[in-house]
Amino acid sequence: MRNSWVNWGRNQRCAPEQLARPNTHDEVAKLVCLGVAKRKKVRAVGAGHSFSPLCPTEGIMIDLSNFNSITKVDPQKLQVTVGAGIRLSDLNKKLESLGLALPNLGDIDCQSLAGAISTGTHGTGLNYHSISQAVIGLKIITGDGGTLECSASQNQELFEVARVSLGSLGIIVEITLQCVLAFHLRAIEQTTHIENVLDLFTDAIRTSDHTEFFWFPHTKVGTLKVNSKSEDPPSYRNPYKAFLSDEVIANGGFDLINKYAKFFPNRAQKVLEKQISHERKISYVAPSYKVFCSKRRVRFIEMEYAVPLNYLLEAFQKVREATNKLGRPITFPIEVRVLGADEIPLSPAYGRESGYIAVHVYRDTPIDPYFQLVENIMKTYDGRPHWGKMHTRTSEDLSSLYPEWNKFQLALERLDPDGHFSTPYLDRVLRD
Ligand SMILES: Cc1cc2nc3c(=O)[nH]c(=O)nc-3n(C[C@H](O)[C@H](O)[C@H](O)COP(=O)(O)OP(=O)(O)OC[C@H]3O[C@@H](n4cnc5c(N)ncnc54)[C@H](O)[C@@H]3O)c2cc1C
Repeated sequence: MRNSWVNWGRNQRCAPEQLARPNTHDEVAKLVCLGVAKRKKVRAVGAGHSFSPLCPTEGIMIDLSNFNSITKVDPQKLQVTVGAGIRLSDLNKKLESLGLALPNLGDIDCQSLAGAISTGTHGTGLNYHSISQAVIGLKIITGDGGTLECSASQNQELFEVARVSLGSLGIIVEITLQCVLAFHLRAIEQTTHIENVLDLFTDAIRTSDHTEFFWFPHTKVGTLKVNSKSEDPPSYRNPYKAFLSDEVIANGGFDLINKYAKFFPNRAQKVLEKQISHERKISYVAPSYKVFCSKRRVRFIEMEYAVPLNYLLEAFQKVREATNKLGRPITFPIEVRVLGADEIPLSPAYGRESGYIAVHVYRDTPIDPYFQLVENIMKTYDGRPHWGKMHTRTSEDLSSLYPEWNKFQLALERLDPDGHFSTPYLDRVLRD
């Protein structure tokens, strides 16, 4: 019987010839050598939370989920070395028990660490960066079955590119992270008129640590989320109210609305408006990772673009107009975040303070013309797509968006000239 693999969004699947879950670095090296010898593609997979076809392969799929422990801790330098397949949810708890944390995280914690860094997974905050920026060392099994160690002081040119490398350079087996001392965040979430949200957002991105907003399509309602470091003790929300809001309304109720919208698109609008039309503000304090990450049980497909920060709100307004004119209800809020510039060659935030705009549709509903319209807007702002989310770009146009594209190409030429770790998607975005 063939193996089968499907991603979280249920929009990518494959039947790899072999689906391996190795336990040791040697086993990984043997699988890579086997693939190369048999001229089979070799592909690392994390938690399958990418929407783009990054993982599917008919060759050998290597799942690193058994590489899930912390192997070294340097408490003075606040550094840890971990197995590359560790899930962020596990990592966050293990770091907390050491009095440590990652400085910034995205919306969820289900991804593997290697998968998250490979696509530049990010949260929000102009003085912060993607998770890849916290990486200070990598151990990679390369195409010849050898082990490449890289960091700022060892194989530096490869280290720079490998932090966001889409699984194209080899199988990452170990990752060293620069952490920070564990901290609390005060979360303030305010649902109000979108124009208020936009005014508050412009100030808050400079005055608070982590700011983002959501706009509910076809309405004048938005939610601003502002998270800032706090010395206060945790003040958890009433567990009953939290369950009601996060599970029953945000997940269960939202799923029902999406199902309803699928069958009765013309009536869905009213239901949605009723759901989100009231003003509200909540505030609480909790350990950072519990504020950054929440549960997303309603499955969707997503596209996200990074544009230069200066154009963020202009681009958002264009997306807003296009969404309102679409002639079909969009049930998922549009998410807007910001990030500081970094120097990782394939990071969408390379060399520029960035604003991110993310659009979603309910699973099993068409992504176009919605995503295509939004992508066309993003192109006019030199937008760079999130590697793990849907987009239609090719290496031809992406190369001009990344000033250090050639640095990455040199690493690719050196570590995988014959494309053993490639897939049709990688050929499209990195090679053709
Ligand atoms: C519900 C949901 C919420 C999300 N929220 C955010 C968010 O807030 N911010 C954001 O930026 N993104 C977000 N994403 C996107 C997600 O973080 C990325 O797509 C991420 O790459 C998924 O990690 P994964 O472990 O599932 O990796 P996979 O999707 O399994 O793999 C991603 C890439 O990593 C490579 N890879 C995996 N393991 C290895 C390894 N050991 N060695 C080499 N390469 C490897 C794979 O080959 C592939 O190219 C979200 C996705 C979902 C489904």
